[in-house]
Amino acid sequence: MTTGTPKSIADWKRIAIVQGDITRQDVDAIVNAANESLLGGGGVDGAIHRAAGPQLLEECRKLGGAQTGQAKITQGYHLLARWVIHTVGPVWRGGQFHEEELLAKCYRSSLALAVQHSVRTIAFPAISTGVYAFPLDRATHIAITEVKDFLAQNASIEQVRFVCFSAAAYRCYLDTLSQTNK
Ligand code: ADP
Repeated sequence: MTTGTPKSIADWKRIAIVQGDITRQDVDAIVNAANESLLGGGGVDGAIHRAAGPQLLEECRKLGGAQTGQAKITQGYHLLARWVIHTVGPVWRGGQFHEEELLAKCYRSSLALAVQHSVRTIAFPAISTGVYAFPLDRATHIAITEVKDFLAQNASIEQVRFVCFSAAAYRCYLDTLSQTNK
């Protein structure tokens, strides 16, 4: 199930937190923090398109975009992951524009799509915490609570891996996971 050497890993039952690059994860599905066009962008989106190859963009062109909070699935092409689940996180605009609920919806819709496609292992980036400027601590809390709630209701997903690009994000995820376990 898990290959490669994640820099560090903290397992709490079916949740793993690693610091690394999501494009290198050997999981059934990786989640992309896309924009509404689903036609690629910077950050993790650009990295996923570069690693998957041009066929990913070709398939994305057929999807007709997505709304914030929605998720759509494609193949992974040159990625180790068989699937890419593209979800559109909210842009942080101060917190009065349903950003928290929309971010929660990203996790729920991505996991629902994963289950429909018999995904057993799935990796998430820290959706919305880059260019979309969602405060990392709030975003992390939402990510972990949504995933925990989902796993409590669903036995088919064996592992959800949070892939943190920075040491700061990794620390935040570890702290949040330990707080929610108290
Ligand atoms: P958004 O527009 O949703 O904020 P970004 O791609 O700008 O998306 O950033 C989302 C998160 O993904 C950030 O925390 C960023 O550090 C992280 N990130 C960027 N590249 C990668 C990567 N290759 N693997 C994992 N996470 C990444």
